[in-house]
Amino acid sequence: MSKIKSRYDVIILGAGHNGLVAASYLGHAGLSVLLLEKNDYIGGATTSQKVFPDYDARLSRYSYLVSLFPEKIIRDLGLKLELRRRATGSFTPYIKSGIHDGLLISNVDEAVSRRSIVDLTGSETEFEQLKKFYSLSRVFAEQSWDSMLEPLVSKEEMKRQFDTDELSREAWRSLAEEPLGRALERYLQDDLVRGLVLTAAKVGIFTHPHDPSLVQNRCFLYHLIGNKTGEWKVPVGGMGAVARQLEQAARGAGAELLTNVDLVDVDLNNRTKSVSFEVGGKKQTVDARFLLVNFGRNVLAKYSGNAYQPEAVDEGSVFKINMLLRRLPKLKAKKYPAEQAWCGTFHSDEGYEQMNASYEQAAKGRLPDKTPCEVYCHTLTDDSILSPELRGQGFHTITLFGLDAPYSLFAEDNEKTRKQAEKKFLASMNQWLEKPLEDCLAVARDGSLCIESKSPVDIENSLGMYHGNIFQDSPTWPFATSQEQVGTWGVETEWQNVFLCGSSALRGGAVSGIPGHNAAMKVLELSKKTPNAQRPTPNVELSRSR
Ligand SMILES: Cc1cc2nc3c(=O)[nH]c(=O)nc-3n(C[C@H](O)[C@H](O)[C@H](O)COP(=O)(O)OP(=O)(O)OC[C@H]3O[C@@H](n4cnc5c(N)ncnc54)[C@H](O)[C@@H]3O)c2cc1C
Repeated sequence: MSKIKSRYDVIILGAGHNGLVAASYLGHAGLSVLLLEKNDYIGGATTSQKVFPDYDARLSRYSYLVSLFPEKIIRDLGLKLELRRRATGSFTPYIKSGIHDGLLISNVDEAVSRRSIVDLTGSETEFEQLKKFYSLSRVFAEQSWDSMLEPLVSKEEMKRQFDTDELSREAWRSLAEEPLGRALERYLQDDLVRGLVLTAAKVGIFTHPHDPSLVQNRCFLYHLIGNKTGEWKVPVGGMGAVARQLEQAARGAGAELLTNVDLVDVDLNNRTKSVSFEVGGKKQTVDARFLLVNFGRNVLAKYSGNAYQPEAVDEGSVFKINMLLRRLPKLKAKKYPAEQAWCGTFHSDEGYEQMNASYEQAAKGRLPDKTPCEVYCHTLTDDSILSPELRGQGFHTITLFGLDAPYSLFAEDNEKTRKQAEKKFLASMNQWLEKPLEDCLAVARDGSLCIESKSPVDIENSLGMYHGNIFQDSPTWPFATSQEQVGTWGVETEWQNVFLCGSSALRGGAVSGIPGHNAAMKVLELSKKTPNAQRPTPNVELSRSR
C-alpha cells in the first residue's frame, strides 16, 4: 500500500466516476485529494469486468450507455473517450395477424423509422405525432441542458425561459407540470409506440405514467436531455474505458486513491473533518478541510448517526442480466437482419397497457406475469471488449435491463426471487426468438451457463445504492424546488464543508460527471481557487446528434 499523508485538502468517500471527476478538477486546481473506496476496483457503477472468468470478455457490468456526460467535462479533463452512435435506436418485436414483425427506429435513416411505424399502425399519423412529441423534449433539452453545470435557478426563472412560443410553453407544461401520461396519451395512439416512449420514464425507478409525484417526468427528462440530443451512445471499450480515463485524469492531477477501504468513523461536525478507516489490516485517521461524499445519503447516514429518511419514490426497480453468447440469437421476425435489430435497444413486453399491468402486479407484491425489459448488444457496435479469439468465433455480449422489478419484491428472499425473475425475463425474450436464448449462451469450464443476474438487493450490496436505485435515489428536476436551493450547486449538506459529489446530489444520477463537477466547483468557490482544468482539445469523437 502506498504511504498516505495525515492531512489533505479534500477527502472523497467512494471512487465512483463522479468522485473521479471531482478529484480531477480539484487536483488540477492545486488541492491535495484522497479517495477512499470500499471495493477492490475503481469506478463504482461505471465499470467493465471479466464477469465470466473463463472468457476474455469485459462486460459493462452495471451501466452500459452514455448520454448525459457533458462534452465540457470531456474537454476540461482531456478525456480520450470515444462514444459511438448505434445505427439502430430501438427494435420492438410484435405479432400482427399471427405474423412476427418488429418496429425499428433507426438512428441514421428517418425513412426506415417512418416505414416501420406505417407498417405497425397503417398510417403516417403516428410517426408525425411521435416527432411532435419528441420536439417537446428537444425544446426542454435546449432550455435546460447548459444550466446543469451552473448553480441552480428557481423553477419560476426556468419556466420564464419557456415562455417564448406555444411549443416551448407546451414543453414546460407537458414535462414539468403534468404527469407525463397525459401528453403521451394526447400525442400518441398506438399502444406499442406509447410504451416505447414510456420506458425512458421507468428505467431504474418504480413508477407509472400518471404518478402524481412526477418522478416519471424527471426520469424521462434524464433520458432525453443529454448533450441536448438525448442520444444514448456506446462507450468504446465499455464503461470500464470511461472509468479508466477518469482514473488516469484523477491520478494525473495528483489525486491519491485507496481501494479495499473499510470506513470506520467519519467526523462530519468539526471544522477539520476526520476520517478513520482500515485498509490492509491497518487502522488510520486522516484529516481534511473538505469532505466529498460520492456514495448516497443512505450510506452517509451510517456514519453520521442521523437516520436516513427516504421518500417512497427512492426505491430502486431494476433487474440486470449480463450474458456472453456463442452466437447472436435468430429472430422470428424476418423483416430486418438480426444485427440491425440487436444493435439498438430491443424492447420486450413494453406495451403501454402491458406496463400498466406489470406495475400494478409488482405494486401488489408479486413478480408480474409478463416482465417488461430491454436488451442491448454492445459488441455489434464495439467488439473491442472481446479478445480477438472470441471475436473470430462470433461471440457477443448482451445485457438485459428489467423494469417493474422493485426492491420490495426481492427483500425477503433474494436468492429465490432472483431465480424466478431471471426465468421470467428470459421467457419474455424467448417468445421472439427461434431458439431459446439459453441455447446461445457460452458455457463455462464447469458446465455452467455464462449468465449473471443482479436484483436491486444485489446492487445495494455491491455498491451501496439505496434499495438498488441505479441513481442512488430518485432523479431530481434540473431546477431548484425550494427557495433555499436557488443559487446553490445542489451538492450542499447540513454539515459545513461536507458536499455530495455523486448521483444523490441534485441533478445527479446516470453516468454524467455532473455532480462531481458541481461539487468541485463548490469547493473551489470556498477555497477561492479557480478551476485550472482547461487543456488542449483532446482526441474526442462524439458522433453526430440524432
Ligand atoms: C444496473 C445499472 C445500470 C445502469 N445503466 C446506466 C446506463 O446505461 N447509463 C447511465 O448513464 N447510467 C446508468 N446507470 C446509472 C449510473 O451507473 C449511476 O448513476 C452512476 O454510475 C453513479 O455514479 P456515482 O459516481 O455517482 O456513484 P457510484 O457509482 O454509486 O459510486 C459510489 C462509490 O462509493 C463506493 N462506496 C459505497 N459505500 C462505501 C463505503 N461505505 N465506503 C467506501 N466506499 C463506498 C461504491 O463502491 C462506489 O464505488 C446504471 C446503474 C446501474 C446500477
